[in-house]
Amino acid sequence: MSSKGQTLSCDSPALTQGLLTVETALSVIFDSIKPVTETELVELPNLVNRVLANDISSPINVPPFDNSAMDGYAVRSEDFSENAEVKHFTIVGTAFAGEPFQGKISEYECVRIMTGGVLPKGADAVIMQENAERDNSLASKVSFTSIPKSGLAVRRAGEDIAENSLVFHKGHLIKPIDLGLLASLGIEKTLVYKKISVGIVSTGDELMQPGSTLKAGEIYDSNRFVLEALLRDKGFDVQNYGVLKDDRELIKTCFLKASKEVDVLLSSGGVSVGEADYTKDVLDELGTVGFWKIAMKPGKPLAFGQLGNAHFIGLPGNPVSSVVTFQQIALAALRHLSGSLNTAIATHKAVLAKTFFKRAGRTDFQRGIAYTNEKGELLVKPMPKQNSGVLSSIAFANCYVILPQDNGKMDAGEIVNIQLFSDI
Ligand code: AMP
Ligand code: MG
Repeated sequence: MSSKGQTLSCDSPALTQGLLTVETALSVIFDSIKPVTETELVELPNLVNRVLANDISSPINVPPFDNSAMDGYAVRSEDFSENAEVKHFTIVGTAFAGEPFQGKISEYECVRIMTGGVLPKGADAVIMQENAERDNSLASKVSFTSIPKSGLAVRRAGEDIAENSLVFHKGHLIKPIDLGLLASLGIEKTLVYKKISVGIVSTGDELMQPGSTLKAGEIYDSNRFVLEALLRDKGFDVQNYGVLKDDRELIKTCFLKASKEVDVLLSSGGVSVGEADYTKDVLDELGTVGFWKIAMKPGKPLAFGQLGNAHFIGLPGNPVSSVVTFQQIALAALRHLSGSLNTAIATHKAVLAKTFFKRAGRTDFQRGIAYTNEKGELLVKPMPKQNSGVLSSIAFANCYVILPQDNGKMDAGEIVNIQLFSDI
């Protein structure tokens, strides 16, 4: 494995004060991980979060034919010239959705039409029924209170998607709404890349399972639950390896097993340089892994490399750090491995509503609350506690506020990028 993480020395230009920038970390990861090439045919209902292995062009026009956008009357707009003498039009038939009118309409004729009904031959506009007046004594006659222009309330064939046009690129990550598009093209299954399996494991002598009683010095393991839920939400298969004590042999056995079972192993904890941090030793023995200090806050330490056939990402143990590094770094790695070209997180510009404190040197992913003021401007204020152990700072926030690496404190009124949690 050519993890460039190992070859970056502290005086590499990609590093600032021995720290790897977030952008460099991502590009090293993208260079090191070869996306999967295995594909499988998957049926429409199961395609969400899968990655397309082919371009998809439309085999048909959507909609396939000109049709009515309203319940009303299909007419010829030319019959409505300003000095038209005829007031009453003759209703010559009906067009329901799925049951077209078979004839053609001529001068001063119209067809009763429902939404989705095929626009009859000869017609070029639809007048909604609210603008029609029927006279009970003249059952087949109707008059109109409005003058239509050609094309009124008509949905043209191919107006949504034209036949043969490119709809999705190879590498597109399929979202729920995309199933509607694929279905409207008549596609019932399509070729996607293999689903990635991800193993998760927490390390730490102090970590206990929720439900148990804590003894002095113990805390509940929370990272695994967050990571498993985030991974499942993104459509990955998850193998949960539980909590490991800070014990070299236990860690070694688990990592060896996982390396044969999953595509990626994600661990949390034990990636710093503490005395009980065995992850590094084990990885040095079993694989090729670089220990990085990334110029981001929270989340400075991160391990990245190879463990047999599996990729390995070691997230820091602090609960906020593990979530932030998962979302900013690990998820991009997993998406890239899955063949996805959608690895970037959407950002929006927002105005700082208060001073945000930070030191220059690292990119901060502070937790904030974004809101709009009465002028419609997007503002953001910080969560009061930004400590990397304070999980509530994420739980009750609605966005990351990205404070650039070189900036120190930033003042109210300055503009920053934010990532809304709904976009992550
Ligand atoms: P470490 O990265 O192992 O040095 O851990 C850093 C901090 O995060 C310590 O306070 C740990 O107790 C805490 N921590 C580590 N793993 C977890 C976990 N899975 N759940 C909650 N806290 C954790
Ligand atoms: Mg630990």
